[in-house]
Amino acid sequence: MYKSPDQFSSLFELLEYFNNEQICLAYLAEQRWQGEVECHFCKHTNVYELKGKTKRYKCAACRQQFNAKAGTIFEDSKIPLRKWYAAIYLILSHRKGISSYQLARDLKLTQKTAWFMGHRIRYAIKQGTFDKALDGIVEMDETFVGGKNKNRHADKKVKQCQGRSFKDKTPVFGMVQRQGELRAFVIPDTKAESIQPIVQDQVEYGSTIYSDEWHAYRGLNRYYDHAIVNHAARQYVDGEIHTNTIEGFWGQFKRSIIGIYHQVSPKHLQRYVDEAVYRYNNKALTDGHKALNLLQKSTGSLKYKALVYVKKES
Ligand SMILES: [Zn+2]
Repeated sequence: MYKSPDQFSSLFELLEYFNNEQICLAYLAEQRWQGEVECHFCKHTNVYELKGKTKRYKCAACRQQFNAKAGTIFEDSKIPLRKWYAAIYLILSHRKGISSYQLARDLKLTQKTAWFMGHRIRYAIKQGTFDKALDGIVEMDETFVGGKNKNRHADKKVKQCQGRSFKDKTPVFGMVQRQGELRAFVIPDTKAESIQPIVQDQVEYGSTIYSDEWHAYRGLNRYYDHAIVNHAARQYVDGEIHTNTIEGFWGQFKRSIIGIYHQVSPKHLQRYVDEAVYRYNNKALTDGHKALNLLQKSTGSLKYKALVYVKKES
């Protein structure tokens, strides 16, 4: 029997347990298929294990061979799985994330490799999430991320200045259920047409929603019980009616973007958002559990060419 994901409480323990490629592969197979191996090529489950030190399988239907890395973010990577697991652990256990430079130093990788691994890991983080609508009380808010240094501290006050250009900043929209999950999406602009379809897609009709007075939220009261927090009038906290949870998340996220990831191009921003959201939604789990849970979601691949045009970015 394998040690379960919640039994890993430190990086040391993780590296001690995953001390060779065989155990890493076997563990990946277990997390991925939960006992019923599925053919990577034809999805058939009539699959048998081949003899040998390293777990490999052969499909009885299509006769092809594969191992647990097939069809995952680890496929075609020359990096040993234990380094991958350590990278996942490091990325998820640092509250504000970890730069590819630091990851490269910690795991003895080149920065380019660490950067690529980081993106593949964020890609896995994205898989299979958000299949249940938010309900109860849901706070929502949008923010602007990135841009030049001098603009960086411009906060939501910018919203009030219509006609001002924010072409070096990227808007992100977020929603959080009280005592529940958080979701956040990079959006093209902060207009109602960009925001409201997301709300309707992600929040159960009839729920209570809290937002500020930004006009893009107008009209949502047709579907929701909508209370407005009026920042302009400085009524920041009206008892229960506030958006402090989502604003707290933005604060944390921006500190990580500024402090750890320095500049993130709009093209990659959603992945950093996903990383922060995953960390938030799994904050009750131990670091080891958070990391190893990701193995269940590691299917899918993200090719290097989909990520090139690599600018200097951490
Ligand atoms: Zn097959």
